[in-house]
Amino acid sequence: MTKWVYKAEEGDAGMKDLLGGKGANLCQMTKLGIPVPPVFTVTTEACNAYLAAEGKFPEGLDKQIAEGIVYLQGKMSKDFGDDRNPLLVSVRSGAKFSMPGMMETVLNLGLNDKAVESLAKQSGNPRFAYDCYRRFISMFSDVVLSVEHDLFEQALKTMRNQKGVKADNELTTEDLKKLVGIYKGIVKEHYGEFPQDPRTQLKMAIEAVFKSWNIPRAKTYRKQYHIPETLGTAVNVQCMVFGNFGDNSATGVAFTRNPSDGAPGVYGEYLINAQGEDVVAGIRTPLKIAEMQSHMPELYKQFMDICVRLEDFYKDMQDIELTIQEGVLYILQTRNGKRTGRAAVRIAVDMVNEGLIDRRKALMQVDPSSLNQLLHPTIDPKARYEVLAKGLNASPGAASGPVVFTPAKAVEAAQSEHPAILVRVQTTPDDIHGMIAAAGVLTSQGGMTSHAAVVARGMGKPCIAGCGAIDVHVADGYFAVGDKKFKEGDVITIDGTTGEVIAGKVPLIEAKVSDEFAVLLKWADEVRRLKVRTNADDGPSAQKARMYGAEGIGLARTEHMFMGDRAELVAELILMLAGKDRSVPDVANRINELLIALGKLQKGDFIDIFRAMDGLPVTIRLIDPPLHEFIPSPEKIAERIKRLEAEGGKESEIANMRTLDELKGRLHEDNPMLGLRGCRLGILYPEINRMQVKAILEAALDVEAEGKRVLPEIMIPLSSHKNELIVLKELVNEVAEEVFRKAGKRIAFMYGTMIEIPRAALTAADIAEQAEFFSFGTNDLSQMCYGISRDDAEKHFLKFYVDKGILPRNPFQVLDEDGVGRLMRLAIEGGRKTRPNIKLGICGEHGGDPESIDLCHRLGLNYVSCSPFRVPVARLAAAQAAIKHG
Ligand code: ADP
Ligand code: MG
Ligand code: MG
Repeated sequence: MTKWVYKAEEGDAGMKDLLGGKGANLCQMTKLGIPVPPVFTVTTEACNAYLAAEGKFPEGLDKQIAEGIVYLQGKMSKDFGDDRNPLLVSVRSGAKFSMPGMMETVLNLGLNDKAVESLAKQSGNPRFAYDCYRRFISMFSDVVLSVEHDLFEQALKTMRNQKGVKADNELTTEDLKKLVGIYKGIVKEHYGEFPQDPRTQLKMAIEAVFKSWNIPRAKTYRKQYHIPETLGTAVNVQCMVFGNFGDNSATGVAFTRNPSDGAPGVYGEYLINAQGEDVVAGIRTPLKIAEMQSHMPELYKQFMDICVRLEDFYKDMQDIELTIQEGVLYILQTRNGKRTGRAAVRIAVDMVNEGLIDRRKALMQVDPSSLNQLLHPTIDPKARYEVLAKGLNASPGAASGPVVFTPAKAVEAAQSEHPAILVRVQTTPDDIHGMIAAAGVLTSQGGMTSHAAVVARGMGKPCIAGCGAIDVHVADGYFAVGDKKFKEGDVITIDGTTGEVIAGKVPLIEAKVSDEFAVLLKWADEVRRLKVRTNADDGPSAQKARMYGAEGIGLARTEHMFMGDRAELVAELILMLAGKDRSVPDVANRINELLIALGKLQKGDFIDIFRAMDGLPVTIRLIDPPLHEFIPSPEKIAERIKRLEAEGGKESEIANMRTLDELKGRLHEDNPMLGLRGCRLGILYPEINRMQVKAILEAALDVEAEGKRVLPEIMIPLSSHKNELIVLKELVNEVAEEVFRKAGKRIAFMYGTMIEIPRAALTAADIAEQAEFFSFGTNDLSQMCYGISRDDAEKHFLKFYVDKGILPRNPFQVLDEDGVGRLMRLAIEGGRKTRPNIKLGICGEHGGDPESIDLCHRLGLNYVSCSPFRVPVARLAAAQAAIKHG
């Protein structure tokens, strides 16, 4: 016979799979001698059997529950359904992973019209007895009989109003008696007779808890936190203890340390003469746990002692439920407490210093992603505000500012020293200058890997994406939320950590990197094997990343070439190269002019980066132009021609723009993602690569002359065939020799490629003949492996796929181990076969994602590279991978 029911003495904290977290911990606390009301637990297996059999108890369960009740009766010397001394129980859900408030619980079960009278007599406290009964009827009817909870709330409110009292505990016995009658009437109208037999009540409640595994909010929660659907919930049947017995009774919740900043000392609240969730429901103002010290000193001491013992046992901060009945303390639940990133770091480091845990345990205790919050300004926790709308918390941190709807206005606002919140339906690469200038970004559409989200995270700028509740009218210059309108210049605040949009300005507090933060990351550095580099395109971000512990640059994009005035130079250059006869001296001259101008600008960029990364490797990717994105649109070209004409611009310039217009058509591609991109462009028009290689090496020599160490790595984007690398290697070496000859000195550099096309991964052994390093460009590699264009997918089907479970995860957020990971494995094998010491890294967005970093560790990469703000996240995630997998 399967064992479906466990008594408290039969379980322990290691049995969470079977008994759920709540049940396993109740057992454990019982073992530790902590005062827990007697309890038995129906297993998750019973729940799964029940759900699989479409609502039938598995064989033996009824009998084992009956035995469980006998066990509880013995412990309490009370009888279930008795009319002298009735036993009351709670029926509590509890899955393996805590899903606070997601599933159902029923309190005070066992009461009926007779038992309430005997409870009144036996306790000598009729008010209390009827308080329990009215609570039980409303809770049971809501959870088990599906009678609208609000009906009972309304009746309660009416009673309070009639009696002219503010709080429930001011109602008299007579009031409560009357209320019970009214409640029963409600049940009768919407369900039928209220079940009177306690054993029937119990079975119905257990079934309701089983079924609550599948209520929509529980499903949503599991999806959000990636909790498997197959686990099922356990059911705990526990003897009631009563915080609502009178003024020497209370109920409370407490954390063993402060969950928002991690400060030591028990933190929590309790409410006199109350039960269950009263304390968190905000119906009366609770007292601080600290006040218990003067109010009930003995109990306070006992409780503090229990807190210490629980932390000692669980080696983690605990979230505890307590109840005091007539001066006796009971503990009803303990679990590892949820906490902010800041608190997590402080608690982990403090616990090591207190000798409670070792460094490895401390490192494992902090969720790497939560470190993100620490580097950004946040809303002052003391601030009171009203939330206007909620979107996706796409990039953490908070910002206030006037609303603008165009990138140009964002730039203007930044110059006027009030950086704006850029509000768009979605952003595109055209908006990039506006995003740089803005204090934060808010979009009404797009997911967690939309352009806005990815770019904002890279910049470390607050961003809320996909905020469907706002209706953005860019052309008319306003957005609407319900019937409220926000025009350009109206101030709002966005909290990218929570996804909340708030009207007006809310006080923010600056991020302060704490000492504990530095200590924890130092420990992480001692155990991790992966190096952590950063993706940075300019000096300031390189510097910031270095401050956060970056050990080099894994990807410096030359994208800066495509921004502001430079974009026009590059566009013109490419169009000239593509469309004009270079044997005409005028054309050759103009091309030359453009190359010299761009070369100078690029050299400046590289000098800044090399200086910031003194002594550390810097991977620079040669041009990978998103052609279709930055070559001006026909409208823009027409506009410029008009402007030039109006300003009486130079004939030659106007003529140039006309040719651009003409050429634009010629360069049009139906599928630019698979078109003239990456190294293909560099091969077709080698002038650009020559200019870049020259700029890189000249910058390197200059910075070295300042006494710094420069380790340049030249990286070819989007290669698919080794011949591409042969052609470009020749070019690079040729330019290098030229530069070295002119300078009269040399500098060592590496030559390598991105692996972002499946063919490159498959032929990695050949590719490695040319490339000294591989850097996995997992954004493109995922796109090409799946045949999905990320931005299009974000707009249309990706969310649907993930919601429906067709894809387990968004592959642009978390590396897909089975597919993309397989390509990476093949590439690594091939690469190492040809070149055993080949240097391997990753520079896609995934380089900052903890789960993907875990995979990178297992694949044996040398480093990950991510945006500056994610460097600490990556350091910790890499340490956790090393601890987990050795
Ligand atoms: P949740 O998982 O939503 O916290 P719980 O099962 O923990 O649900 O119970 C809800 C509330 O009822 C909590 O405040 C809990 O402390 C209280 N409660 C549960 N069982 C008992 C009991 N046996 N005696 C008194 N209060 C209880
Ligand atoms: Mg609870
Ligand atoms: Mg790419």
